[in-house]
Amino acid sequence: MAKVIIITGASRGIGAATAILAAIQGYSVVVNYKSNSQAANNVVDTIQKNGGRALAIAADVSQEAEVEKLFKTADKELGAVTALVNNVGILEKQMRLDAMGAERINRILTTNVTSYFLCAREAIKRMSTRYNGKGGAIVNVSSAASRLGSANSYIDYAASKGAVDTLTLGLAQEVADEGVRVNCVRPGFIYTDIHETGGEPDRVARIEKSLPMQRGGTPEEVANTILWLLSDEASYVTNTFIDVAGGR
Ligand code: NAP
Repeated sequence: MAKVIIITGASRGIGAATAILAAIQGYSVVVNYKSNSQAANNVVDTIQKNGGRALAIAADVSQEAEVEKLFKTADKELGAVTALVNNVGILEKQMRLDAMGAERINRILTTNVTSYFLCAREAIKRMSTRYNGKGGAIVNVSSAASRLGSANSYIDYAASKGAVDTLTLGLAQEVADEGVRVNCVRPGFIYTDIHETGGEPDRVARIEKSLPMQRGGTPEEVANTILWLLSDEASYVTNTFIDVAGGR
């Protein structure tokens, strides 16, 4: 069966590393992004230079119509999806809850949670034996924040990741006998651009010595775990959470 993977938010960070590794493992890769077309095209170029197959597709996955278009374009260009990585995630400036407004909270929830539901729905319609699909696997990218709470920084972000954990729990059981496995990775402090949007680009360097392994993680270390969960080596693994967080 041809392996086709859609990775949301794959132009940078963990998503980009996952896209590059997926292509090495034989997947045709959809590199989804929101606005940074140059970064998305760089990922596609890297994959193609290594002999792989990839396509960059712009879509704001918090918007239902854009998600539907993303999956339809992927169907047409690469074939029906067999693996989905719900990876997109944003956070905003560090602050206490008592300073947060509804607009910000809703932005975080629609991007980090609604998008995961919508993309999972479209994937299930293509993978599940209930819809005559041939099966597949989904990995949701949550965060150690769902366990830790992110007090004084971004409780909204942490709570959105709590919702991702619960989505995994429910959906994994809903489709377990339909050929679809659903798992979750929870990265800890990983060296990517995301910390800049929180107002602290050097957040990982500041915190890493307090972690049991005394270092931050790399996007590639998270990508390795995601690809293993998607692979046949994990054929009896569903509804499982792997913390990639250096012991925290
Ligand atoms: P990142 O480097 O900030 O990259 C974010 C990616 O998401 C970019 O490709 C961006 O596209 C895309 N994006 C943002 N909003 C989007 C939208 N509405 N629709 C489509 N794409 C969108 O992020 P990262 O650090 O790799 O994080 C990846 C995932 O890991 C997130 O779910 C995050 O919560 C989780 N995580 C990260 C860490 C960490 O320490 N880095 C820790 C725990 C969990 P553009 O390039 O077009 O902007």
